[in-house]
Amino acid sequence: MTAVYPGSFDPVTNGHLDIIKRAARVYDKLIVAVLVNPAKHPLFTIEERVELLRECCAHFENVEVDSFEGLTVDFAKKHHAGVLVRGLRAVTDFENELQIAQVNHALMPGIETMFFATGLRWGYLSSTVVKEAASFGSDISKFVPKNVEEAVKKKYQK
Ligand code: ADP
Repeated sequence: MTAVYPGSFDPVTNGHLDIIKRAARVYDKLIVAVLVNPAKHPLFTIEERVELLRECCAHFENVEVDSFEGLTVDFAKKHHAGVLVRGLRAVTDFENELQIAQVNHALMPGIETMFFATGLRWGYLSSTVVKEAASFGSDISKFVPKNVEEAVKKKYQK
């Protein structure tokens, strides 16, 4: 079974990597898919986000990183994936995630969404938290791997 883990990953955090590690154990192949979302104003370009993810996922044999535009279910279908993976942090994620999962199910009933409960250590963590902390010069080494820490620092030095 192939699964797709879609998201903005602006940038990838230890919370995302925890989900990737666990999902990679469950599925034969996991495609981490960076969404091109024109409505958001990301800190990192699509290419930069893909590159950072590839560096972080290089040691997983069954994990690939890609980017896509348009509907997640179309991307999943194109790659013969049967599952969409999402992470659930707090209740606040739930309503939005439930709606996305239901829309995706309506669009393509053959593809299931499966949720991974956030690792206890990462429940508070989001890409936004990382960016906010870094923008005020805080240490983000607890939140992201080294390559991401350096890339984020560089962005805010400019
Ligand atoms: P999106 O803009 O699609 O929500 P994100 O990159 O913020 O993109 O998140 C992608 C997925 O990863 C979502 O399912 C989100 O709930 C999950 N996620 C984000 N941060 C964490 C975390 N700290 N722990 C577990 N899952 C997370």
